[in-house]
Formats: sequence, structure tokens, C-alpha cells
Amino acid sequence: MAKEFNVERQLFDEVMVPCYSPMEVIPVKGAGARVWDQAGREYVDFAGGIAVSCLGHCHPVMVDALKEQADKLWHLSNVMTNEPALRLAKLLTEQCFADKVFFANSGAEANEAALKLARRYAADKFGPEKSEIISFKQGFHGRTFFTVTVGGQAAYSDGFGPKPGDVTHLAYNDLASLAEHMSDRTCAVMMEPLQGEGGIIAPTAEFVQGVRELCDKHNALLIFDEVQTGNGRTGDFYAYQGLGVTPDILSTAKSLGGGFPIGAMLTTSELATHLKIGTHGSTYGGNPLACAVAEAVVSEVSKPQVLAGVKEREQWFRDALQAINAKYPIFDEVRGKGLLLGAALTEEWQGRARDILVAAGEEGLMVLIAGANVVRFTPSLVISKEDIDEGMARLERAIAKIYQ
Ligand SMILES: *Cc1c(COP(=O)(O)O)cnc(C)c1O
Repeated sequence: MAKEFNVERQLFDEVMVPCYSPMEVIPVKGAGARVWDQAGREYVDFAGGIAVSCLGHCHPVMVDALKEQADKLWHLSNVMTNEPALRLAKLLTEQCFADKVFFANSGAEANEAALKLARRYAADKFGPEKSEIISFKQGFHGRTFFTVTVGGQAAYSDGFGPKPGDVTHLAYNDLASLAEHMSDRTCAVMMEPLQGEGGIIAPTAEFVQGVRELCDKHNALLIFDEVQTGNGRTGDFYAYQGLGVTPDILSTAKSLGGGFPIGAMLTTSELATHLKIGTHGSTYGGNPLACAVAEAVVSEVSKPQVLAGVKEREQWFRDALQAINAKYPIFDEVRGKGLLLGAALTEEWQGRARDILVAAGEEGLMVLIAGANVVRFTPSLVISKEDIDEGMARLERAIAKIYQ
């Protein structure tokens, strides 16, 4: 087919809804932790598509799984089940506390299912007055109206008319305020076991433990949103496994598909009985292509050597960031776990995370930010030492330029 126009960045402004402001370059190819743009310029990828590309770009196990399934069967809907969905569900239940799986297509949808299950369970078992959802400030749970309302930033949920009701936001890591506020009317507490978008904020051991105890005391469900922390990101398959606290419901997406859209809500057999036939659903949920890719991803990422490799790479990242900071002291601390890391800017550099992201891009490095004051790194979980070294050299050049 003849090309009738050039696909350029400017076309974005002409034909796309302006809710994003993408960078000027358009990537066209990726391999491992490297990406190339239209001009053939190469980038080291420390962003990983926002904690999605857990095996890097076009990893052979994903490509093989996709190609194999592409010749077999793409879609049925949930009028019938399919082999990849059943195999993936079995695999996920073997990896964590859950007995049952509901497939969705994104993190927001997995969380939507989690919240609806919690509300349905409480209504069935305790009555309609037990409907309060408690979540935390700076938390992020997706962009559907329910999930964005549960998220802890009113700026994201304001301006769309009346919000889903009975949602309370409290301060993360403040156990006393939770203890004071929570009651038998509380249906569920939803939290990230390490806040991602909110700035890479870890919960204290006392806080997670206390949240679990308060949930038990008030017959409320504990929902862990592991959309960003899950699938090996922190060095455990799910982050809760490193915290010693088990949720009742867990949502997972992002790295689950390694770049193919899929999400899942995981729970116990007892809770799952409350989503009876017809109570919830999704046309694409459990799609064979998505599940075939995710099965390959989970099989690979859950290998002990891959999870151990995440912890090894965390140390390489921390060491390299410390070395840069010794020359150009702009970071207060490097925080987070595994390959979900945030470098928080010092007082003097407040508000300049985006400047670093842009400067890094100019040096051929993709990074992320988490708020205005944190540079975030969520690379491939199998990124090579060589790619880390090269990316860090580029980051150092970018920071040196800004530091002038
Ligand atoms: C990204 C994210 C979501 C939303 O996932 P989508 O796939 O964009 O809907 C929800 N929760 C957390 C913690 C996330 O990081």
C-alpha cells in the first residue's frame, strides 16, 4: 500500500485526544533493553514501558508464544473457555495465595473487579451498610471512575460529575489514623504494597502488619494493588511475599503480559463464590493471545534465578546511582525495592525530575518520574550489566549538563 503521508509526531496533535503529551521522538523497534526511533537513534530503556516490559522488548519466549498462538486461536469470548487462560490461571494460583482468577485487560479493570467483589461480598455477608472503601493518599489504582476515585489524588477524579460514594482517603503509613477511622462499616482497605506513582513510598512493617490486623478485627477485606509491584518487580513474585502479610484480593497487570495487555484479579475460593454467574464479566478477559503471552512471561519471570537476578540488578542500580550522586549530589536517597526504584531529589533540586527525564532522553536514555521530585526506574528484570552501565553513563552525562 502506498504511503500517502508521513507518520510524524505532529500527527499526534492532529488526530489524538490530547490527554497525553508524548516525547518528540517516535520509537519503531525494540530489542532487550534498547529501543530505536524513526531516525535510527538508539536508547537505553530504564523505563520498561512503566514497569511493563519485564523481559525487555521482543524477548524470544514472548515472541514464540505470541506467534504460536497467533496461528491457533485469537478470541472466543467467555461463552467458552480456552487452554491458555486455564493454563495461566493454574500457574498464577501456584505462584501465590490465590485459588481463583478473574481475567481482565488492564490494571484498572483488575482493580474494578477487586472493588466490586469486595462490595458484593460485604453486602451478601454483612448487609448493605458495610460499604466503606478505605484507601490512601497518593495511591494510584487506575483511571476507571471507581478506581480513580479510590486513588489518592482528587485532581485525577475531579471534574467528571458525581463520584462513586463511600470512599475514604487516609495517610499512608499512618496506622493510628486508620485505627481511629476504621469501623465495622468498612468493607475493604485497598493499598499498594509499595506506592509507585505516588513517589516510590514503601510501607513500614508495622503499618502493613497493622492494616492486616485491623481488617481482621473489622471483617474488612485487604486488597493489595500489585499492578506495578507484581510479577517479579520487587524480587519476590508478588511484593506481599516479601512483607509477610497476605491480602484477601490481589490485582495484577503491567508486567503480567510483558507488553501484551492483560490484567487479573486473584482471590480465595471463599470470596470468589460471591461473583456468581452474570455478576461481572469482560469480552476480552482471558483472551487466548494475551494469556498465551502471559503464561510464557510468568513461567520465565518466576524462575528462582530471574527473581534472584532482580535483587542483584537492584544493587547495580543503587551502586551506580550512588556513584553519580557522589559527583553531582542531587539525590537525597534511592528508595524502593528490586527494580522499582526512585531517586528522590534534594531540597535544592525540588520540582526538577522532569528536567532530568528530558536531559536523559537527549543523551539516549529513557527514564520515568514519579511526581515532580522523584526520578523512577522500572527497567526490564533481565537487563544486562552492560546495558545498565551504558544507561548510567548516559544518565551521568545528562545530570552533568543540568548540574552546570
Ligand atoms: C498502572 C497502575 C494501575 C493502572 O493500570 P492500567 O493498566 O493503566 O489500567 C493501577 N494500579 C497501580 C498501582 C498502577 O501502577
